Formats: sequence, C-alpha cells, structure tokens
Amino acid sequence: MTAPEIPVFRGSFTQQEPISETAIEQAVAVMRTGRLHRYNVAEGETSQTNLLETEFAESLGMSYCLACASGGYALHVALKALGIQPGQKVLTNAFTLSPVPGAIHNAGGSPVLVETTESLVLDLVDLERKILASGAKVLMLSHMRGHLVDMDALMQVLSDHDVALVEDCAHTMGASWNGKASGTYGIVSCFSTQTYKHINSGEGGLLVSNDEALMARATLMSGSYMLYANHDAAPDESFFDSHKYETPNYSGRMDNLRAAILRPQLSALSENVDRWNKRYRVLENALAGVNNLHVPPRPDKELFVGSSLQFLVEDLDNSDAQTFVDTCAQHGVSIKWFGAPEPHGYTSRFDSWHYLDAGDLPRSKQILSELFDIRIPLSISVSDYELIGNIIAASLRSVRHRT
Ligand SMILES: *Cc1c(COP(=O)(O)O)cnc(C)c1O
Repeated sequence: MTAPEIPVFRGSFTQQEPISETAIEQAVAVMRTGRLHRYNVAEGETSQTNLLETEFAESLGMSYCLACASGGYALHVALKALGIQPGQKVLTNAFTLSPVPGAIHNAGGSPVLVETTESLVLDLVDLERKILASGAKVLMLSHMRGHLVDMDALMQVLSDHDVALVEDCAHTMGASWNGKASGTYGIVSCFSTQTYKHINSGEGGLLVSNDEALMARATLMSGSYMLYANHDAAPDESFFDSHKYETPNYSGRMDNLRAAILRPQLSALSENVDRWNKRYRVLENALAGVNNLHVPPRPDKELFVGSSLQFLVEDLDNSDAQTFVDTCAQHGVSIKWFGAPEPHGYTSRFDSWHYLDAGDLPRSKQILSELFDIRIPLSISVSDYELIGNIIAASLRSVRHRT
C-alpha cells in the first residue's frame, strides 16, 4: 500500500506580524527626543513607560503595574518582593517553560513541581498533596500554553492552606476565567512581551498587583533609585518610606522605546484575541476525527487566547513521535513534541532541569510523552490553518502506515 500524498505548506511559524505604522511612529518620536530611559523626561512630560503601566493596569482593573526588562525578570522580582527567603519552597507546574523554575531559583527559592492533568492544567489533587508534604506557602502558577485551571477551585485550595498565589500569565494576556481576567487572581502577576507572546517588544515584562508594600519593593528592586515618585501606576510615596533603605536595586527596567511600541498593541489586543481564536478553531476542526488524536476541550468558563494549540496522540512510541514531527516539518509544518528526551529549541521537560529536584512525576511524564504543540501566528491566514491541520493528520497517518 502506498502512503497517501501529504500536501505541503509554505509559510513560517516563527514570523510575527510587523509592528504597526502607528507603533513605529511612536517609537521614532521617542528616538527623536533621545529620551529613551524611563526617568529621562522633559518638564511636564509623562514617559511612554509610565503611560504603558497606567494603561495596562487599567485594562485589568488592577491598581498598580511595573514594566520590566523581561517576563522572567518580572517573575523573579515578584517572588523577591513577596519576601521569598533562601531555600524557601515554591510550588509550580511541572509542565511549564524553563524561565519559570529559573525565576524561582533566581529568587533563591526551591521549586516543588506539581503534576499536570490531561487538560494540561495544574493537578489540584497533587497540589494539595504537595502543599501538605512540603509546607510551601507560595504557588507560582504558570498558565502554560494558555490553559486556565478551574480558578475558583484553585483559589479554594489555596485559601484552605493559606498559600499565596503568583500568576505567570505569559500565555494568558487577554484571557479570563469566569469573566475575571487572568492576572487578577494572584497577589502579584507577571506578563511577558517577548516576541512570541501576545504583544511584542522583543523582550519585556509587566508585573501587576494591588498590594502597596509589595509594589513599593518591586519598584525599588526593578531599579527605580529614589525616582519612584515618577511612577503613576504605583502606590503613594509614603509606602516607599519604610522600604527604600532595605530594598536592593536589581536593575531591570523597561525603556520608553519598547513601551512606545507596546501601547498601540495593547489597544489592539482584544481584536487580536478574536483573530487567534478564529485560527485556533479552524485548526481544531481540521484535527477533529483524526484517530487517537485528541485536542483537550476548553471549558465554558475559560476565555482563552488561541495563540498555540496542543494535542495528544496516544499510540506513538518515541521513534514514531519523532518521525511524526519530522514528517510534518518536511511538509512545512513546525510542531513540537514535549515528550522528547533531550531539550530542543525553546522546549525542555522538567527532568532536564538538573539544578532542581523534580521528584517523581509519573502523570506529567506520561502526558508529556503524548503531547504535541503548534504555534498559531497571526501572520498565517485563517484558511491556511485548514491546510496545516490536514498536513498534521496526513503525516500522522503516514507514520502509522509505516509501522
Ligand atoms: C516566555 C515565558 C516566560 C518568560 O518570559 P520572558 O519575557 O521570555 O522572560 C515565562 N513563562 C512562560 C510560560 C513563558 O512562555
């Protein structure tokens, strides 16, 4: 029997949309002034970074926002500002990207990894078990690949055990659970504006909170010197008085150039969420009905941002899984496999983070061994996602033919 013909896609999964002309003009305007540093302002001027912070806080209905050099930096500062002590245990997802355990390590904490479920969210039963076993009082929750755990159930577990929540919203900017925005559940929450997230400044991070003391410490840590009164989306100056002598400067501010190109993108975010989700649904449809391929259903309470799609394939051994990825790639479709034994590209599994004690995570290991991932760039048209889905389906069929 000959393998069925697999179509070919010619497009790029790493190509983002260009920065809009409006954003480019704002960036050029900043460059014309020469005032790129956030505290370098003319008399009466409000810096772009300051404006971005105000607008981002408002978009979430949060009191305060701090713009940082990266999302990982924001996560690190969030933990430091929360008062993490050397060696303190911090719970986090086993299924996440390496900057998350890295931020815990950078803050001097010790990551305790929690299992993931087939729906690709934090396993709340294992969370409770690990809270009791470790005595940890902080959870850094990664909404990995944009999947929101039942936030109501999670908040109940955390309040039962008096555990503080830090949210990693790198993949959930624009998302919400039951009408409440992701990033408004944590004592402090962090977003990334790295190129492959939902707004793009190359690198960048945004930290939000309603906690005055925490925010004063985070602002000082980010490198405000004694210029914190320049921040609009920050607590009153009086909150800095008791922290300014004790708080180290971990220099990691955002600059006006990046803020200038982020502000127009923030205005366009909800429109882009619709554009991502259209593409997601077309791809999901094209994959529906493929044997043993399963796209986790999205709960009704979850408003997600379909900037990537995950699917599980049940019946492939390691060599077939790799052949499947390679076959897709040969036909122009770039997918990732989270089960790969060796870290590759942006993806690494928890058992390759040798600096921490991952412990035994049989459920996550099993799920990741079946888990594939594809980016959904907006630069690829809606109709192309049908073709892309068909290539994935045909590639999988061809791998099964062979064995
Ligand atoms: C990208 C990312 C981060 C870190 O963001 P950077 O801005 O790249 O430092 C954190 N968590 C997750 C899940 C990410 O994907």
